[in-house]
This record gives sequence, C-alpha cells and structure tokens, in this order.
Amino acid sequence: MADHDLRPETLAAHALGGIDGATGAIIPPIHPSTTYERDADLGYGRGRCYSRADNPTYDAAADTLTALEGGAQTLLFASGMAAATAVFQALEPGDHVVVSKVMYWALRAWLRGFATRWGLEVEAVDTSCLDAVRSALRPGRTRLVWVESPANPLWVISDIAALAELAHGAGAKLAVDSTIASPVLTRPLALGADIVMHSATKYLNGHSDVVAGTLTTAARDEFWARIKAVQVQIGGVLGPFEAWLLQRGLRTLFARVRWQCASAQDLAQRLSEHTGVAEVLYPGLPGFAGHEVARRQMSGGFGGMLSIRVAGGEAAAIAVAAATGVWKRATSLGGVESLVEHRASMEGAESPVPGDLLRLSVGLEAVEDLFADLDQALRR
Ligand code: PLP
Repeated sequence: MADHDLRPETLAAHALGGIDGATGAIIPPIHPSTTYERDADLGYGRGRCYSRADNPTYDAAADTLTALEGGAQTLLFASGMAAATAVFQALEPGDHVVVSKVMYWALRAWLRGFATRWGLEVEAVDTSCLDAVRSALRPGRTRLVWVESPANPLWVISDIAALAELAHGAGAKLAVDSTIASPVLTRPLALGADIVMHSATKYLNGHSDVVAGTLTTAARDEFWARIKAVQVQIGGVLGPFEAWLLQRGLRTLFARVRWQCASAQDLAQRLSEHTGVAEVLYPGLPGFAGHEVARRQMSGGFGGMLSIRVAGGEAAAIAVAAATGVWKRATSLGGVESLVEHRASMEGAESPVPGDLLRLSVGLEAVEDLFADLDQALRR
C-alpha cells in the first residue's frame, strides 16, 4: 500500500515507516555528525554539507509532520520561539503585521521589542472577530497575519478558513500557531493557511523532555526560502538527539491527543457544575464563545487544554494550585503528566489573563484521579 493511501494515524505510528537501508532497523538511527564528506570535484553529491543546515536525523520527524499537516516541507527549530520568530525575521522593515491579541505571552513580548527595533508595524487584534481583522488589514502593506488558535490560555478560537481568505485578499500570508490543536485536531494548511507553526515541546513530542519548534509550509515559495535562510544563518536548529526524540514522540501523537481530549471534555463538563469554579474556558463546551467555529475546524476533539476561573478570586486560585497533588504545578503543556499553572503571575502586568485563572494541561492519568484531586483542592 502506497504512503498516500495510508491514514494519518498509520503514518504517525510508523514515522513514515522508513527502514534503515544499511541495517534493516525499523527505528531510524541517530546521526551525530556535524559535517559530511565533500566530493573530489568539490560538490556535495550526497546532498548534505553541514548540520546547521541539514542532518539525516531530522528527516523522520520533519517528513512525518509534513505528511500530517499536508504541507510541502517542514523545518525543525531549536524551540517554538525560534520557529515563530524566524517567520517575523523573514519580513522587511516597514512591513505591517496583524497578530492575535491573545497569544503565547513570550512571543507577544518579543514582538514588542523586536518590532520596534526592526521597523515592523505589529497590530494586535481580536482575530476571533473577522470585522476587526478586516479593518486592521492594509492591502499591499500587510504582509503577514499571525493567528494562534486555540489561543493560550483563554482558548480563543479564530476561524482559519475565513482569515486565510481575508489575508490573501489583502496580499498577506496567514501563519497559524497550531500548538494546542496539533495536526490530530486541525490542519490549518487544508483550511487555506500558508504556514503552520508548532511548539513541538508540547503535544508533538509529548513527554516534556525536548524543547523544539516546527514550521510547515504549504508551498516552497520565496517567503519560505527567506525563512530557511534565517534558520540556517542564525542557526536555531534542533540537535540530532532532540530530533530523534521528537520522531519517537510523534509515533504516539494520535493516541495521546485523543485520550487527552476525552479527559479534558469530561473535566470541563464536571468542573462547570462545581461550586468552587466560576467559569470553565474550553472550546468543547457548547456555551463557549468559539464553540461553533471550533466544531467546524477541529475534528475528533477540542484539545487537552482548559482553564478554570476559581470562585473566590486570585488568592483562592493560588490556594487551589497549592493544594493539588496529582496535578503538578509547572509551566508548559501537552505532556503525559497533568500540569496546573497560575498564568497571570507568569505572564506579568500586560497579560490579558485574569488573576483567578488556572490553566490546566490534561495528561494521561485516569480522569477520575484528575477530577478527585481538583475537587479536594477546590473544596478546601
Ligand atoms: N506557542 C505556544 C502556543 C506555546 O504554548 C509556546 C510555549 O509554551 C510557544 C509557542 C513557544 O514554544 P517553546 O517554549 O517551544 O519555545
């Protein structure tokens, strides 16, 4: 059966199924080499020169992700931030960019500093509101629309297909940070986006033991060539050991994410009825603002991330996080262990996140244990 006939679950489980030609190994080897032999005529007939640009260990993870996202090529970066910032660094001073108001806080902070120095004009709007995006776009000057959906940690949903149409109509590219959805739930390129980005530190690797980022493009065009040049010149590449761990994580992606979605949906429903919880933010709840769009663009679940607003305010929220045992107090998300985090104290003064909010990353534990642990913390 040819690869193109196989379903994404199968492609991921096999990491495209390459068998090592030299040994017959079904798991790809790690190539630590930083450099490759040059031909006598000074060419590189075997295609590789130096590992800041390329390493065979990247292939299994990069090609698997390209297949899962339905793209033309994937680049692996040293972190999600390295991947995201490469896209902005490929723009020209003077370019205008529209970004989601609610987005990963460190990227928002970087944009504030970088945009000023680089001469980019960055406009943050509520990308869940198409009218707001429409009026922010400046045809011919806006080069990029950057959207995070669901957006961390309020899980705002932006309509990727509609935004692609708007961006393209203004002559801009659409890039989507799809870290929270993963290709299991959403395929932004199929909805019209030009570039999809992941903090692979999260669901793609899934075991909280690799920091990595990815970009996948719909087309190998001029903008993509500029992004690749930024990566190779600045050197924000992944080490071969991390790339190997990433392909190993990708093999279990579908099983992990589906389990996490089911547990998150269950927890969201039960916590909505809890007297200790003022509000649950989760795209899978019918009353959630972005639920209808999420139903259209997410398939098989609404993600493993939710947030709760604790009745009693900020002090009560911090006390709940202090009283959990199964849920570990830590930043990050998408791993096998469930994490709870008080985001406002992490994000600082300019954060749109309310002080009573706890972000929950649902892992692979029994959902009964996860609920019982939160329940006892909320009842104290
Ligand atoms: N995008 C999102 C949605 C994230 O949650 C994160 C990290 O938490 C990043 C980007 C940045 O990724 P990294 O920490 O791998 O640099």
